[in-house]
Amino acid sequence: MNKQPNERTGSNGEKAVGVETAANKAAAKDKFAAKDKITAKDKSAANAEKSRGNENTERNKTSKAAETGKTAESENSAEEVQKMLDVLPDFRGIFDSHAHYDDEKFDGIRAPLLEGLFSGGLSGIVTCGCDVDSSKAAIALSHQYKGMYAAVGFHPENLPPHEPELSALLPLLEDEKTVAVGEIGLDYYWDIEKPLQKAWFEAQLVFANRAELPVIVHDREAHADTLALLQKYKPRGVVHCFSGSVETAKELLKLGLYLGVGGVVTFKNARKTVEVCEMLPSDRLLLETDCPYLAPAPFRGKLCHSGLIAFTAARIAEIRGVTVEKIIKTSAENAKRLFKIAE
Ligand SMILES: [Zn+2]
Repeated sequence: MNKQPNERTGSNGEKAVGVETAANKAAAKDKFAAKDKITAKDKSAANAEKSRGNENTERNKTSKAAETGKTAESENSAEEVQKMLDVLPDFRGIFDSHAHYDDEKFDGIRAPLLEGLFSGGLSGIVTCGCDVDSSKAAIALSHQYKGMYAAVGFHPENLPPHEPELSALLPLLEDEKTVAVGEIGLDYYWDIEKPLQKAWFEAQLVFANRAELPVIVHDREAHADTLALLQKYKPRGVVHCFSGSVETAKELLKLGLYLGVGGVVTFKNARKTVEVCEMLPSDRLLLETDCPYLAPAPFRGKLCHSGLIAFTAARIAEIRGVTVEKIIKTSAENAKRLFKIAE
């Protein structure tokens, strides 16, 4: 896909977080206009589901249902969920280190789905925020299920133009179910101004280190800059849905970071991810979905949920020549170690 033209010309390109100027306001207005265009573009591309192309569609639309708790979900949705779960291989013990259960795509089936997954033996889920509202929704969800944990942060596609929003994250870091700062990082696929992205990423890395929380990092087509900032701040954490080379992976591993592997590894064009799975030490692998996006084969393009990690784990087991049980067990231990979750 071609990149979008730069639609944020109202900005001076150098503004730091915390400086609210007329230029910033113009940029903010522009940003929201650009976001609408991205959403429209993404909607039209959704059916094609080109690799990660639609991953972040409508990321900022926090579900009302997730904010307010359970919806009136009918018996029909319970039946629908049962059908979704019946087709799965054994998913007991799986820890999904990266999900977005506040997403409106789960409206109507969220509660029966999560109840079905946890009662079926799923070990845990970290559901990630992308802005203040979705971070609050993540925390609300984490308090409804024992095995659900929250990450709070601003995704690079959801950056507000000034600092007060950033300080709104601070109380959320204190919640007992908050286990990480995320999803944060850099995304150079979309044309979102780089200085703004870097400023917010850095600010949130500082927050995480101060709060002694690990980070959940999004790096899309920004491997060099992401690595440089991780080398500078040396947080604990995971680079989720890792899409870089073996060389970049080695540099991240040197920093003690974990790498998240999701449904992409089951795709036919997953050569780089397969190479990384071959070399990744077993104590640094995290399984993830990024659901509702990036469902693994044979469900590619369908609604993704944590139970489908069974297919991702099976593919990684095949690549590494070990049992799927070993992959599931080791990666769950890794997630609990990183997020400091007691057994
Ligand atoms: Zn994500």
